[in-house]
Amino acid sequence: MSDSPFPSVDALTHRAFRHHDEWADAWGAFDRHDAVGVDPDRLDRVFDAYLDRLEDHYPFHHPRYAGQMLKPPHPVAVAAYAAAMRINPNNHALDGGPGTSDLEQDVVGDLAEMIGFPNDTLGHLTSSGTIANLEALWVARESHPDRGIAVSADAHYTHERMCGVLGMEVTEVPSTAHGRIDLGALRDVLNREAIGTVVLTAGTTGVGAVDRIESALELCRAHDARVHVDAAYGGFFTLLARDAAPDLDHFPAESFRAIARCDSVVVDPHKHGLQPYGCGAVFFRDPAVGRFYQHDSPYTYFTSDDLHLGEITLECSRSGAAAGALWCTLQALPLSPTDGVGAVVAATHRAARRWAEALREASRLHLLLPPETDIVACVPSTAEPTLSAVDAASREVFDAAMNDPQDPVFTSILQMPADALTTLRPDLRADRDRAAVLRSVLMKPEHETHAGDLVAALDRHAARVLD
Ligand SMILES: *Cc1c(COP(=O)(O)O)cnc(C)c1O
Repeated sequence: MSDSPFPSVDALTHRAFRHHDEWADAWGAFDRHDAVGVDPDRLDRVFDAYLDRLEDHYPFHHPRYAGQMLKPPHPVAVAAYAAAMRINPNNHALDGGPGTSDLEQDVVGDLAEMIGFPNDTLGHLTSSGTIANLEALWVARESHPDRGIAVSADAHYTHERMCGVLGMEVTEVPSTAHGRIDLGALRDVLNREAIGTVVLTAGTTGVGAVDRIESALELCRAHDARVHVDAAYGGFFTLLARDAAPDLDHFPAESFRAIARCDSVVVDPHKHGLQPYGCGAVFFRDPAVGRFYQHDSPYTYFTSDDLHLGEITLECSRSGAAAGALWCTLQALPLSPTDGVGAVVAATHRAARRWAEALREASRLHLLLPPETDIVACVPSTAEPTLSAVDAASREVFDAAMNDPQDPVFTSILQMPADALTTLRPDLRADRDRAAVLRSVLMKPEHETHAGDLVAALDRHAARVLD
């Protein structure tokens, strides 16, 4: 074994595949059928072509990539996924994935504890945050069939779309310039309309803002409304709100702690849990909502009276490898406030603060708002103080910074509404409804080391194209 703390995917997968081979040998060798054979020359050509096609991506693994919420999974997750995928267990039923269903129950327990939910929490993994939110909204509808859903303007667009799928009434609650649900507006909506469930967000997709969950929750309880928290992006930041976590000024710890008192929560391990895509999770504080899922399957549940995960999920087939990869990763990098995943999100949060600090020193870029998680938004300075000028300049800097072969910096474009932008930068005149701003997602811990240099490079690109 190597002494490096950075695991090698090659070594781990090699070990896993050798282990499987030993296991398969016990059953006796058998010849594969010709039908699944491939001509070796053809395979060679196919694989070359495939590797070429894969070149057509941005360097998501590199610190210079600070664009969208994208990064490769941890090597432990890759190897653990490959090891289980070779068996291809299905966590729908214990028949299909006995071992990986157990691992799923373990990680669901660990994640429930992380968000502060009780031991008997009902929860499971899903294919994505979208499906996890769909299930939470479906339980919201079954809990209050004659009442609607309230969602903030900065919540993920999936809520409105999934409410459409479910045939539910949606009321949009305005958000503040900082991207958080406007509590006064929420109070008005709750007074005026029959709302069954309010959706709050811990880490918005736009600027990583965290709704003031502790205050919103009180309002909702006073109006007998349930609360669902979409923590698909920000869920793992709850680790930084624990008592043992390092002290972080201005971190919305109180809001993260309040998640423990809400009714349902979605967390995406394929965002900040170091996993490959195909891994979301949903949790219900009241296990009695399991009754909504009740169904009988004529062909699936015969091996035992124990709970089959398919009995508490809307999806049927689900990857057991996803559960295995998450289990293995969280054993290696635990859900601790000071270590493992906690140390990763702490580093990304510090990276965002450094990025913001560096923007305060920049000559051609202006920080828009202090980061609450690990996403930072800024605008270039423009000769004309208008949103049209900001929109054009943001796009120019975005393009120039990304396309410089020597010194590239990858950011992303966020469309910000005019009222938010002019509140954050009162010197700007609103001559249009919205404008592009530069958004950086600093979700790799390595961003902590490189933030200062990357902002300096972005500032140079801005000077180059705008002067
Ligand atoms: C990513 C995200 C979603 C959607 O989840 P997917 O896993 O992409 O389907 C929903 N809400 C928030 C806040 C997100 O960041």
